[in-house]
Amino acid sequence: KGGEICIEDLDKHARASYPLCMRFLHEALRTHHHLRHFGRLQYGLFLKGIGVSLQDAMRFWREEFTRIMDVDKFEKEHAYNVRYNYGQEGKRTNYTPYSCMKIICSSVGPGDHHGCPFKHSDVKILANKLQAYGISSQYVGEISELVKGNHYQVACGKYFEATHGKPSNGIQHPNQYFEESQVALG
Ligand code: SF4
Repeated sequence: KGGEICIEDLDKHARASYPLCMRFLHEALRTHHHLRHFGRLQYGLFLKGIGVSLQDAMRFWREEFTRIMDVDKFEKEHAYNVRYNYGQEGKRTNYTPYSCMKIICSSVGPGDHHGCPFKHSDVKILANKLQAYGISSQYVGEISELVKGNHYQVACGKYFEATHGKPSNGIQHPNQYFEESQVALG
């Protein structure tokens, strides 16, 4: 599948249908007009998975990155990676979007925005963020407890429930989260 998601709608989707790992990456990209290598991979493959075409993905990354760099630099240093995600460069592998397990197990350092927020964020910072997103304090409390018990994907399911008014079927993959959200929102 492809081409059914319009990049003009990504801000809206980030608020309504992205799991937190992708919402954080999207917001970091909008704020800094840049993401590090693993952030670009995690988010870029997710975008491919939800149906953003290579052409649209290129326009999306270019528009954001060229707020802080000139087009030449983007074309030289980043366009390759966008095509690479779509299997158009290198070994021409058709790379698969990352599962929760893979994201939860990734190593994340200071200044990185990839990874799973339920695993990699400080629980207090996470709680503040959730509150700022308008999540009720009861849900924020439940999510924080699950995070402290290392139940990251269950916590992610709670976030789904809090933002959709119904439970998820169990979160295994960010793209599954997105699809379930789209169905739930009709
Ligand atoms: Fe993303 Fe999975 Fe973590 Fe949810 S549990 S935030 S979908 S990596």
